[in-house]
Amino acid sequence: MKSQNNLTIASSSRVAQLQTEKTRSQSSVWKLRSPQDGVQDLTADQALQKLIAGNKRFINHQSINPDHLTCLEEARQKQTPFATILGCSDSRVPLEAIFDQGLGDLFVIRVAGNIVTPTELASVEYGTSVLNTKVLLVLGHGNCGAVIATLKGGNLMGQMNTLTDSIQPAISRSSNQPGDRLENAVRENVFLQMERLKESIVITQLLEERKIKLVGGYFDLKTGRVCILNILTSQRSTIRVNRLYTF
Ligand SMILES: [Zn+2]
Repeated sequence: MKSQNNLTIASSSRVAQLQTEKTRSQSSVWKLRSPQDGVQDLTADQALQKLIAGNKRFINHQSINPDHLTCLEEARQKQTPFATILGCSDSRVPLEAIFDQGLGDLFVIRVAGNIVTPTELASVEYGTSVLNTKVLLVLGHGNCGAVIATLKGGNLMGQMNTLTDSIQPAISRSSNQPGDRLENAVRENVFLQMERLKESIVITQLLEERKIKLVGGYFDLKTGRVCILNILTSQRSTIRVNRLYTF
């Protein structure tokens, strides 16, 4: 019985030690990520690198897995996200997870097909100009149902045609491109929505003042990797794939 008690005590002690290590580890992780550490002072390049580094951790099974409740405690009084992301509603594209970021880090607008309508644009303008995020990312993804539905054509129920109507120009633009039809359409849709963002006076001004970068990306469902398709640094920049960015 005595040895059993000793074992229990030793076991409890080890559990306590592990909990202390976990707490210490979480607090140091959070300390690195705290808004007080100058997230708002990041340049646009640094903010983009922070996203890319998070996605690298994600695809390498090295996610920090931030304690979201602790993040929330830190950000409760004021949010200081460093990136605004317009992504698809698809359940396989959770942005905090694929970029390994915590609550308060990303200002997220999710809508099927990552389309820009006045409503999404208003949120994007808020994220970039009021919350001062440094990167504005439009993220398409593989096997996107909204793009597939647009490719198939035909009438959809209820309001769903508004989604496909918004994506249709991207289908037309990509129709003669070599390669995978769906991937091409998803990529063109990212460019199309970026163009729509550029039509905003607010976004234009932020680009002209070099306060933000407008970035297009593609999330690969097979690998989990986010591929950067285009980085715009000014309103006059052309939205095409000139080269694929590798990091
Ligand atoms: Zn989608």
